[in-house]
Amino acid sequence: MKYVYSFGEGKAEGDSKRKDLLGGKGAGLAEMTSLGLPVPPGFTISTEACTVFSQTRKMPAELGPAVDEALARLEKNVGMRFGDPSAPLLVSVRSGARASMPGMMDTILNLGLNEKTCEGLAKRTNNPRFALDAYRRFIAMYSDVALGVKRDNFEHALDEARARVAKAKGIDGTRLNGEELRRKVTDADITEDELRNVVVAFKKIVKEKTGKDFPEDPKEQLWGAIGAVFESWNNHRAIVYRRMHDIPDSWGTACNVQAMVFGNMGDTSATGVAFTRDPSTGERLLYGEWLPNAQGEDVVAGIRTPLPILAANVKPGHTDSLEQKMPEAFKTLVSIGQKLEKHFRDMQDLEFTIQDGKLYMLQCRNAKRTGKAAVRVAVEMVKEGLIDKEEAVLRVDPASLDQLLHPTLDPTAPKTLLAKGLSASPGAAQGKIVFSADEAEKRANAGEAVILVRVETSPEDIHGMKAARGILTARGGMTSHAAVVARGMGKPCVAGCSALAVNYQEQTVIVTQYDEGGRPQGSVTLKRGDVITIDGGAGHVYQGAVPTVNASLTGEFSELMAWADEARKMKVRANADTPLDARTARGFGAEGIGLCRTEHMFFDEERIRAMREMILADDVAAREKALAKILPHQRQDFVEIFREMKGFPVTIRLLDPPLHEFLPTEKAHIEELAKLMNVSVARLEQRIKDLHEFNPMLGHRGCRLAITYPEIYAMQVRAILEAAAAVTAEGNSVTPEIMIPLAMTREELVRMRQIVDKVSAEVSAKGTPVSFAFGTMIELPRAAVRANELAEVAEFFSFGTNDLTQCTMGLSRDDAGKFLPAYVEGGILPKDPFVSIDIDGVGSLVKVAVERGRATKSNIKLGVCGEHGGDPESVKFFHGAGLDYVSCSPFRVTIARLAAAQAEVAAKKGRAGSTTA
Ligand code: PEP
Ligand code: MG
Repeated sequence: MKYVYSFGEGKAEGDSKRKDLLGGKGAGLAEMTSLGLPVPPGFTISTEACTVFSQTRKMPAELGPAVDEALARLEKNVGMRFGDPSAPLLVSVRSGARASMPGMMDTILNLGLNEKTCEGLAKRTNNPRFALDAYRRFIAMYSDVALGVKRDNFEHALDEARARVAKAKGIDGTRLNGEELRRKVTDADITEDELRNVVVAFKKIVKEKTGKDFPEDPKEQLWGAIGAVFESWNNHRAIVYRRMHDIPDSWGTACNVQAMVFGNMGDTSATGVAFTRDPSTGERLLYGEWLPNAQGEDVVAGIRTPLPILAANVKPGHTDSLEQKMPEAFKTLVSIGQKLEKHFRDMQDLEFTIQDGKLYMLQCRNAKRTGKAAVRVAVEMVKEGLIDKEEAVLRVDPASLDQLLHPTLDPTAPKTLLAKGLSASPGAAQGKIVFSADEAEKRANAGEAVILVRVETSPEDIHGMKAARGILTARGGMTSHAAVVARGMGKPCVAGCSALAVNYQEQTVIVTQYDEGGRPQGSVTLKRGDVITIDGGAGHVYQGAVPTVNASLTGEFSELMAWADEARKMKVRANADTPLDARTARGFGAEGIGLCRTEHMFFDEERIRAMREMILADDVAAREKALAKILPHQRQDFVEIFREMKGFPVTIRLLDPPLHEFLPTEKAHIEELAKLMNVSVARLEQRIKDLHEFNPMLGHRGCRLAITYPEIYAMQVRAILEAAAAVTAEGNSVTPEIMIPLAMTREELVRMRQIVDKVSAEVSAKGTPVSFAFGTMIELPRAAVRANELAEVAEFFSFGTNDLTQCTMGLSRDDAGKFLPAYVEGGILPKDPFVSIDIDGVGSLVKVAVERGRATKSNIKLGVCGEHGGDPESVKFFHGAGLDYVSCSPFRVTIARLAAAQAEVAAKKGRAGSTTA
């Protein structure tokens, strides 16, 4: 088995197609090497080695010799040797999985340093300060990752050195908090002598914490690092991230060992990250951040706020962009970016280091981007001739459209601007301030909207970021952890808001206010629980809750959606219960209503009274009298819905829930109702008791109601047909579809059909006959397996996958939330089956019903109206199952349209829909 793949000198054993084996980073390095780009040489240990390690807790036997061989090749290649003080080879050891998991796993830089090689490096570079800086970074990083000694221990010792430097400079360090001290005395200010002290202090910490000396042998360091990288695949944050992004545990991470180049060698050295287009907006320009005299992790860790790459993005009066400071390196970077974009035909995310003026590439990968950027990049790349329209349709993750559909701040609303930061991830969000991820999660679980406010975020905060409505950080740039992760989650985020001074102890944040000229003008102190609004698209922070407005969907977005609609065969309808919902749905491009839940129309004050009268009635005549009061209201609703949906089908489901849902439960309300209805409290209570069901989900509901009370459905059918007649008379085309819920037998449908036919004959006798379709939901396993019989009566089926999931899996929709997360986290179920269809179980029933329904009636119309109709993965399944349409909530219609188009294109191209992540 081959576990190690070398790259260097323009040749690589792997390439970008082997992401499964080499991980994204390894594949990118191999590809860039083969393209002749300046990449420091190295080798990649495959994900298969990680898998063996995870399963057996041992490195595969063949790995040792293979690493030795690759290392020897690397030494020869760069003319340096591991552990040789006269020419010390130093390497980076970095994780890299098939899918990018920013910051989730570990990285170690400067490996190979010990007392002797550090001295050798100092001599060779004639730069002792640099050698010591590299050494102290290595000790801290290695100890954290491979020896389990947390970083804070080292931060503290470094701060002590900072305080001494401050003192020597005449600054009173004792009056500054850690944050201010770090700003006054940056890493670059720490002197050579102090770094020497820091190294001694760091080693002492390691000895104290682990009982052992810090390893001197570079080979021991290397194996420790490889083991730690493989271990990091299973750390808590990586597992949480995988769950959120549906990354299988079985993939494992690769481990990249690469000759170091140094961005911290002085002012002609630097490090940075760049995107070939703006990851927030998609605009076509090299976008990114850099730091002079720094090492890789400084840019993303949020310790120093990085500088812009483009001259156009510097603050007025500043000249600190890469373009201005290192024009040659900048030009090389631009041309490499263009070359890589052409090669991969996609926007790239680049990591680079400049050592003494020379640029090296450390990573390239398809860049993560916001939904807005994804749409713009896809559309522009078609116009640039890089990809075709169908490829563009595949390029945008349907779920990411959610961000575009997000509300933004109402421009006309009065608002108090508190501070400005970076527009790290778009969308507006409001909520109460919390300062810890745990509290964010706790409060969000209790139903509160919160904004997570942090100095910076780290991978440990991921659960809180997920729970919060938005994220606000004081430090870090557009590629900081907060920014990258928030964009991936589609969460609004303002990052690097330097006006904030966050105090975790006191649970406050002091916001310094500035005037036009950037001079401080006093401050505002906010406490935990205070409400703020953030606008991630603009990078603004406002006091209190600012009203929002819905997004407008024009330009590139509508262009892409037009291509999607061209490619798509499956129709997309909306679940809509009111004329307003219907209008919204049409706005999002819905091609009809797939589910109108009529019960929602009964809760209006006047109607609920009539409904209750009907429920309390003792005989048919009294029930009909009460129903007659509801009829005109219901008819009017349908008239308006039909008008909104003219030309499109409207599926109306007859009453579904058990009747007890319409009666009050609280004593006071019962008494009030008794008075209103002119019945005794005792009688009302008795009726409520009679209607009580132990499991109402399987109780007297759906068409079972109409078996005992046919007059209820008769009234509803009358309302539908009379409304249809009226709107037809206005000259509109109306296509009503009458849908029966919770059917399990053919005979039920026969009875329902009789009710419908009787009313239809009566309505026709009075005026224009209206045509309609009669169909049923498939919500019960029996209905699915006997679909051949139901199809004898029904002209359409609509899969009610909510109830079908509930009844197939024996999971209550209302209670399963208490334990389902444990099933998903424990790997028993891949996903929450109420969110994404259980393809193997519930999906099989859908397929059976499709097949059997069509066997009876080849042209039977088939759709789905459960929540799964708006879930991209499920939509792809329904496409494969041969359904004619999906129906989902209005806000998810666009997502479903794109997912349906992707399913079609992917099937045609014979591959899975690819997204950008
Ligand atoms: C369903 O069961 O999937 C469905 C759409 O009906 P409801 O959610 O109203 O039960
Ligand atoms: Mg249902």
